Amino acid sequence: MRLPLQAFLIEHRDGWVLFDTGIDPAILTTPDYISSAIGRFLLPRIFRFHLSEADRIDHVLAKLGVAAGDIRTAVISHLHFDHVGGIAYLPQAELLVSEREWSILSEPHPEREWILREHIETPSAKWRQITFEPTNDPLFEGFEGIHDVAGDGSMVLLPTPGHTKGSLSMLIRREDWDPILLVGDLTYEVPLLDQNVVAGTGDRQMLLASFAKVQALRKRLPGLTIAASHHFAATQAVARATGNAP
Ligand SMILES: [Zn+2]
Repeated sequence: MRLPLQAFLIEHRDGWVLFDTGIDPAILTTPDYISSAIGRFLLPRIFRFHLSEADRIDHVLAKLGVAAGDIRTAVISHLHFDHVGGIAYLPQAELLVSEREWSILSEPHPEREWILREHIETPSAKWRQITFEPTNDPLFEGFEGIHDVAGDGSMVLLPTPGHTKGSLSMLIRREDWDPILLVGDLTYEVPLLDQNVVAGTGDRQMLLASFAKVQALRKRLPGLTIAASHHFAATQAVARATGNAP
């Protein structure tokens, strides 16, 4: 199965925000990028990467005319290595992660779930663990709570556990756009979420519970575009929702 590794860039009036940071191409060129021997053994047997230096997040941003140093906030959907690989190149950014996701680092052997401590707990990384606040907003009924990133409702984080225990999604709203829900790895293809088909890794029951919440949200938010990190169709879907489709 061929999958893209996507991150999403949001221009907010308070500054640039990233949703996920991609993978570090150093995984191909640095022999001890993964510190555990078993991880180094398994990696090339499970994944075949088609990457170059140009895929590093700061280079990707530069191509868009955005300096990596101008990213104020990076929202991390979950701690897998293909989502946190860019944090070393965003040393000034505040990195938002759910408290539940962060707690995986205290459990035995997070590296067995491809959560690589050596690239997460780095001295330069400005992590902020977030918790989800209860809300009376009927839009978010069913979700355990929300976290409003900018305080204006434009970027709302929602717990959508299953792929990992602390995975989150981000709802983006702007008056002249269709709303967009970035779901990270909740599903690899949006049609699978609609059909309640669990592919990929994670806890099946937890994934199905999160699917139901997202499906309910979509009923309440007509026109909602759902974008999954590893779904090729996400780019087009987001372009359509934001009025940038060719
Ligand atoms: Zn993942």
